[in-house]
Amino acid sequence: MMFTISDSLAREMDRFQIFLDEELKPHVSRWYREESRVPAEFFRAMGEGGWFGFALEDGRLVKHSGLRESLITEAVARISPGVAVTTLVVSDLGLMALYLFGSDHLHQTYGPAAVRGETLLCLGNTENHAGSDVANIAMRAERAQGGWILNGAKAYVTNGAISDLAAVTAVTDPEASRNRRLSMFLVNLDQDGIDRKKLNKQVWIPSDLTRITFTDVFVPDDHLMGERGRGLSQVLSVFTHSRVPISGLALGTARGAFDLALAHGRKRTVFGERLIDFQAKAFEAADFHARMEAARLMLFQACEAMDQDRDFRMEAAMAKYLSVDIAKAVCAWAADLFGAASVIYEHPIHKFPLDAWAAALGEGTQDVQKLVIFRKLMNRYE
Ligand SMILES: Cc1cc2nc3c(=O)[nH]c(=O)nc-3n(C[C@H](O)[C@H](O)[C@H](O)COP(=O)(O)OP(=O)(O)OC[C@H]3O[C@@H](n4cnc5c(N)ncnc54)[C@H](O)[C@@H]3O)c2cc1C
Repeated sequence: MMFTISDSLAREMDRFQIFLDEELKPHVSRWYREESRVPAEFFRAMGEGGWFGFALEDGRLVKHSGLRESLITEAVARISPGVAVTTLVVSDLGLMALYLFGSDHLHQTYGPAAVRGETLLCLGNTENHAGSDVANIAMRAERAQGGWILNGAKAYVTNGAISDLAAVTAVTDPEASRNRRLSMFLVNLDQDGIDRKKLNKQVWIPSDLTRITFTDVFVPDDHLMGERGRGLSQVLSVFTHSRVPISGLALGTARGAFDLALAHGRKRTVFGERLIDFQAKAFEAADFHARMEAARLMLFQACEAMDQDRDFRMEAAMAKYLSVDIAKAVCAWAADLFGAASVIYEHPIHKFPLDAWAAALGEGTQDVQKLVIFRKLMNRYE
């Protein structure tokens, strides 16, 4: 296997780094401190630069490569995992659902403003009693003249406070089997019956995490995405796609913390020596670097399988599992290297361990990744 980043992609990533140095780095601590939200101008700037995971061709969304999207997400997360998750949710949950399951009409209606970063999207599946057990949701969609009426609540929706549209799962066929009960809808969030409550969280700042309640919300027939009754497999497919770039997010989180730690370790002296010159610390750094690179190879393998349209479920789950695992370890180590400063809210290192923890939850917990890996593994033995 060969994993190479083409010259043209490498040049694009250099341009993206310049974009981040101008549009993100100087502002992020203020967004973190004061606003606790990513401003609309940043999404527009992302759209203007063509940095979302999709472009338009003949009125339909077309997907950039998973490798490009993972590198982009990693680069943002290296600076701010909280900003990275907002762009990931727009691209890899909301737009991905529209790309995979939206009709031509929906692509044409919403695609252009979405790739420009003017229309923001999110995805709501999780409910209070249904997270890992994706199929167990209770939100109802009942037939009405010309469409559907939605009632229920989505408990944890990233970007729920700032989005215009949400891809939402709901039960359309309660008597059907587990695999045929759900359907997926594209819902306009600016309408009567939608109530959004921003939750007070400590991770992935400045993104929002929002509870959205739906009371008699009307969704027209043509906003049912994909096939009625296939919502479970559709939302799982969106999560599988998103697992690839969120692995990039986890690796970027690890790298961001590692960079800060090495810079600090080269400056800070203890017992008359630079912290990083103690062999115990140097060996830990070497070990973490090697393990981050190993997780990156797994991520590249997942990107390759996805970009070649092969079944990439196992690779995506392994990439997420390994990159979250190393992110949690590296971020805790990096914070520890800062001593007491690491617990101060305003210190840049402070957010990384919490953000690594958050990466373990989005797109399936570590246990869920192991379930996917084991299931695929067992197929090989049958
Ligand atoms: C910051 C953040 C952002 C989020 N954004 C979104 C979003 O945009 N949209 C959305 O729909 N959801 C979102 N979520 C929800 C997230 O997807 C769920 O929290 C996640 O899927 C876990 O579900 P749960 O919280 O119900 O935990 P549970 O499913 O109850 O899991 C609890 C524990 O049980 C373990 N477990 C579960 N099943 C098994 C099993 N079969 N075997 C062994 N162990 C198991 C889990 O690993 C975990 O340790 C977000 C969550 C967070 C924290």
